Amino acid sequence: MKSPYFDDGHATFREEVRAFLAAEVMPYAAGWEERDTVPAPVWKLLGERGYLGLLHPRAVGGGERDLFTSVVFLEELGRTGFGGLRAAVSVHAYMATPYLARVGGHDLCREYLAPAVRGERLAALAITEPGAGADLSGLGTTAVRDGGHFVVDGTKSMVSNGMTADFLVTAVRTAAAGPRGATGLSLLVIDTTLPGVARTPQRTLGWRSAGTATVTLDAVRVPADRLVGRLDNGFYYLMRGLQLERLVAATLALGGMDRGLDELRGFLRAREVTGEALAHKQALVHRVADLATELTAARHLVHHTAWLYEQGELPALECSMAKLHTTELACRLADTALQLQGSHGYLETSFAARAQRDARAATIAAGPSEVMRDLIGRAVLNQPADRDAHARML
Ligand SMILES: Cc1cc2nc3c(=O)[nH]c(=O)nc-3n(C[C@H](O)[C@H](O)[C@H](O)COP(=O)(O)OP(=O)(O)OC[C@H]3O[C@@H](n4cnc5c(N)ncnc54)[C@H](O)[C@@H]3O)c2cc1C
Repeated sequence: MKSPYFDDGHATFREEVRAFLAAEVMPYAAGWEERDTVPAPVWKLLGERGYLGLLHPRAVGGGERDLFTSVVFLEELGRTGFGGLRAAVSVHAYMATPYLARVGGHDLCREYLAPAVRGERLAALAITEPGAGADLSGLGTTAVRDGGHFVVDGTKSMVSNGMTADFLVTAVRTAAAGPRGATGLSLLVIDTTLPGVARTPQRTLGWRSAGTATVTLDAVRVPADRLVGRLDNGFYYLMRGLQLERLVAATLALGGMDRGLDELRGFLRAREVTGEALAHKQALVHRVADLATELTAARHLVHHTAWLYEQGELPALECSMAKLHTTELACRLADTALQLQGSHGYLETSFAARAQRDARAATIAAGPSEVMRDLIGRAVLNQPADRDAHARML
């Protein structure tokens, strides 16, 4: 039966990506986690394969491929089970650089996006601050125009790739917040080599190797032509970018869950207790059945959302639902998989233990579950009562 979303080209690409990750990532990624970083040569390799620019325009060396090519790549990246690597690559290719591709203008694309696609310059996205995360209206990092520069002051935290990034796509306040929300924000590209930029590592529970950092910006003079898009329009760009972030987070979670279920299945078949394989114990079989059913439902939701996105709509509601459902399911799956593998799952180096550490991050980053529920709940409660309208919205 043909998939409505994937064709033979996607299948071939999946094999290619899986083989690449098996050869170039899986043997080494645990070491990267210990050193809190993805080494520079890996970025070059990813760039040479075209994996850092699948969605980006050909003019900057990107592949301009369809969204389902990225879905394949992200599912396979998710399957590696290394959350830090997943975060590092997805922040670079799908969360920070898309702003340059969409509204960055020719010079920013040439100077930052093209080398980012080649894996030569590493990007990070700096929105969150110690005093404001989910609520963008509370962002306090300021950028004040001074001749041909902006002077930037503030602190960003939880910046994935923060320790290694060559540049930060940074949310800054260029005007006071309007009465109805988080307006007055702009996006600036900030070189991490500029005087006044300082970085401190943040040790996190999971997503090790993502190089998470606090970045302080102390009177950093940023050339005015590093403004991304239009002044004071950052909030609108972020609202759009966040939908892709959520879809990407959901897709990575899918890949991780596929692998987690594979690992669990292998263990339950091989492990014998009281003379029979665990896979024959009904109590465990039912738990696997529930997880597999929910995972299948999650897959349909994510793929359908990607399809809507590909049609040129901005399916904000579905992106929130996909993110909420898959990232929370990933936590449940990781927890169950660890429990059913007993002490084998509890070993720090086991797939299940890593999955549990890493899954927790994804229900917070790119919008916590509570915010997703808020957005979904409001949209559902405010929509018209007639069933056709309901179907259109969902
Ligand atoms: C591993 C990891 C990597 C990250 N990477 C990046 C990055 O690369 N760049 C970046 O800018 N940020 C990054 N973040 C930050 C992330 O986007 C924020 O953590 C997130 O937006 C929540 O902000 P906060 O942590 O400040 O929590 P807060 O905004 O203080 O919220 C705390 C908690 O309150 C609840 N809450 C918040 N708002 C609401 C609401 N409206 N309704 C109901 N409940 C609510 C939620 O439970 C939330 O978890 C990362 C976070 C993590 C965990």
